[in-house]
Amino acid sequence: MNIGYIGLGAMGSALATRLQQAHPLRVFDLQPDAVQRLVATGARACGSACELGTHSDVVLVCLPTSSHVRALLDGPDGLAAGLRPGSLLIDQTTGDPAVTRELAAALAARGVALVDAPVSGGAAGARAGTISIMVGGSDEACARAMPVLQAISPNVLRAGEVGAGHVMKLVNNVLSAAQRLASMEALSLAAKNGIDPQRACQILVAGGARNAFLEKSMPAVLQGDLAPGFTLALMHKDVRLACDLGASSGVPLFYDNLTREMLQMSISELGAQAQVNEPALMFDRLAGTRVVPPVNSSTHAARSAR
Ligand code: NAD
Repeated sequence: MNIGYIGLGAMGSALATRLQQAHPLRVFDLQPDAVQRLVATGARACGSACELGTHSDVVLVCLPTSSHVRALLDGPDGLAAGLRPGSLLIDQTTGDPAVTRELAAALAARGVALVDAPVSGGAAGARAGTISIMVGGSDEACARAMPVLQAISPNVLRAGEVGAGHVMKLVNNVLSAAQRLASMEALSLAAKNGIDPQRACQILVAGGARNAFLEKSMPAVLQGDLAPGFTLALMHKDVRLACDLGASSGVPLFYDNLTREMLQMSISELGAQAQVNEPALMFDRLAGTRVVPPVNSSTHAARSAR
């Protein structure tokens, strides 16, 4: 089975590196440096998405948005032009379920199956082989995708038919984004009222307020490390898509729309390319606290000064 991977950014490169431990890969990205990093560990570079599709039975993609996936498929040098009938596309982008279903229907007309398989657990989880993969697709397509995905992580859970993986990823991310911001705000409250932030975090993790952000990310934030490799722009995109899904399916989303506005405020203050833990600096500024200690990083220093 020939496998290709397209989209070798912060997440795609970690997923492809993990997959490459089990299968030889062909790779493509618009950034030559990103391609070279995978080539250095044994992958074969392709000159275009079309070329990669021609040589692959299974193609995985991890791009910023579903619009990028649509653009990748389109055109004479696009991926769809190269894919043969009988091949399988696995979309690991955090995408828009409506666009995913539309692309799946267009590909099905060419004999190509699509499975959506977004991930949760960060690039570190992908490298460690522990990342969670949520899958949407037909029984047959999922059965074909499963061994490939399980080579990335054993933690593969089917959500339903095509688009269901992307629905679950939005549900997951809107909840984790809200938890992240609420946890930062809560630690500022503790710090403003005389509690050492490290101690406050330990106490919260030992009690009913425990959550994945406090357990896994906050220890680094409390050391001044704000760079987990996921931008505010991408998190805002996920929360906006979840809010759009709420509107189109008739679900009131009070907390999630508030989270979206908090993220927009963070982007206005810190920039779209700031990392998802950097709003901790904003809470420090608003509350007059020092949950995030000063470090030598110039990015951090520049943002703290704003
Ligand atoms: P990124 O911006 O770091 O990487 C995106 C990559 O896609 C870039 O290397 C870019 O050159 C490439 N690309 C874009 N258009 C292309 C095209 N037409 N052809 C070839 N390559 C193309 O983004 P990321 O952080 O890796 O995120 C990718 C997806 O994974 C997003 O949907 C994101 O929401 C999701 N995700 C990211 C994380 C994370 O921790 N970074 C976690 C979970 C999910």
